[in-house]
Amino acid sequence: MNPVVNHLIQLQELTLIRAEQKIHKHENRVEKLEGAIDDMTGQLTADVRSIFLRLQRRSPIVIVPVSNGICSGCGLKLPISLVQEVRQAPGLTHCPTCTRILYTPYEPVRRLHEAPNRIKPAKPGISRFSSPSLMIPRLSGSKRNEVIRELTDAMHANGFVDNSDKLYEEALRRETIMSTAVDHGLAFPHVRGIEGGALTLAMGMSSEGIPFDEDNKTLTHLVFFIVIPTAANAFYLKLLAGLTDVLRKAENREKLMAEEEPEKLWKTLIKVTRPAVS
Ligand SMILES: [Zn+2]
Repeated sequence: MNPVVNHLIQLQELTLIRAEQKIHKHENRVEKLEGAIDDMTGQLTADVRSIFLRLQRRSPIVIVPVSNGICSGCGLKLPISLVQEVRQAPGLTHCPTCTRILYTPYEPVRRLHEAPNRIKPAKPGISRFSSPSLMIPRLSGSKRNEVIRELTDAMHANGFVDNSDKLYEEALRRETIMSTAVDHGLAFPHVRGIEGGALTLAMGMSSEGIPFDEDNKTLTHLVFFIVIPTAANAFYLKLLAGLTDVLRKAENREKLMAEEEPEKLWKTLIKVTRPAVS
């Protein structure tokens, strides 16, 4: 991959993680990210830096994968010649409509359109992007990587994504940049850039608790694993804020933790998140 493109992808990732950490009000992490973002922005040539900052003023998503010949930022079907130009990567190529920078992802995981167990609910709320088959009331793993594996496998086994190994790898890569564990025993591991369908959420719980953060200081009991298409980034942040808000309350966490059956956990999750997730 073009090294400048690679640099921009990493820089964008840090800015998106900063937005997550602001939601969680994790000041130390935000500060750490600010420093890394400044460093990486400073390493860009003046031309690329001004393009990046100009695009970023319009939207936090500046650089987007081409998925099936489509700009995943705006959904435009790109001319074949342009898709080839992006693949050959001689320089920065922009989407003719949204002007975001395009890149060809290496071996992407795809969100499958027609998941066999997908429930098509009439009601709004969390049921739009999850399913009882993605609820694991008792995670069997006791380590971070084991439970992430259980959640990525659940998505794959239920036909939501086409590649569990790669999804797992990407989720771990995200954890190495900065832990997704936050206060109140919550963690929100995720993978961005899963194109081809909607945002999807799987959930697992552990009553013993899993050492999930960098320092293994706090134990995580509720794990929400989310795959995020590029165009759903703003919605993801809204969802994250809603879930965090609801789960800050101990009574809501206790209601979830009391469930032992996937169907019941599913119903309780819908119920407790209803005020915050529309
Ligand atoms: Zn576009």
